[in-house]
Amino acid sequence: MKQIAKTILKIVKSKTGKEKFLVHYLDNCWLEICGANIAKHSKPNRIERGILFVNTDSSAWSHNLLMMKPQLLGKIKQNMNEIGSLRNTDLIIKDIMFFNGTITLKNIQEEKEIEPKLAYAPLSEEEKAEIEKKASQLSDPEIRSIFCRIMQDDKKRKKAVLENSKRQCKKCGVPIMGDDYYCPACERERKSALRLKIAEILHSAPWLSYEECINYVNCDKMLFSEIKSNIRSKVYLKIAGEECNAEDKVFATLLELGIVPEKLTDELIEETVERLRRNIYVSSSGSRLRSKE
Ligand SMILES: [Zn+2]
Repeated sequence: MKQIAKTILKIVKSKTGKEKFLVHYLDNCWLEICGANIAKHSKPNRIERGILFVNTDSSAWSHNLLMMKPQLLGKIKQNMNEIGSLRNTDLIIKDIMFFNGTITLKNIQEEKEIEPKLAYAPLSEEEKAEIEKKASQLSDPEIRSIFCRIMQDDKKRKKAVLENSKRQCKKCGVPIMGDDYYCPACERERKSALRLKIAEILHSAPWLSYEECINYVNCDKMLFSEIKSNIRSKVYLKIAGEECNAEDKVFATLLELGIVPEKLTDELIEETVERLRRNIYVSSSGSRLRSKE
């Protein structure tokens, strides 16, 4: 069994598939792990985010097992180590939770509601054959059928996601749900590149309004305002400091008034810097007063 388990863990690629198999595996050696008495009253149910959920037949047994958790965890880890699953940090069981029957049932019901409602797509003959070919290297018929079931479920789920999603990420092509153009990973990457780009534009042309800025970069107004206000607070700090130079003053004036450099005059710069300094003084003394209260 241990050798076969090792092989299955290598063949099954998805994390959920591996977790499902580990639950079957632990269920199979539950007697060996915790002895006849405990095994009679409990059963591994599922693994989620490194937590093994164990079903018990009464709250008294849940309590008993809770008291024995450290020993049980130790034995489980030892057992999993023998099938090589500890090399995969994703699969390490960090904690155990015990539930008696009714609670487990409630959890399963809640879980089903959260899960997106996907119509599972039936597999084609080729897809089934492919899975059976992979399974043929397993000699134990029971393990082989568990393996096939896990792989088929996994394949069906992936197919359903693909067929249900109307869109693919414009950048990497993975299927995505909802109305987004990018997958979460690509969206994060795109946002941070966009931020840099907007900041770069505003540093070279601080007078640009949002309407002018979108001629150079495609962004929404909220992001633009957020970045402009970040730049503004940094400039305010500089203006308030001793080492503020002529360039800072010009930059602050262009940013604050939104005027093109051609319209700059000495008076405008002086006036604006004065005003900004007054504002900074008022708001910082205000906050000092507040913090004393
Ligand atoms: Zn993507």
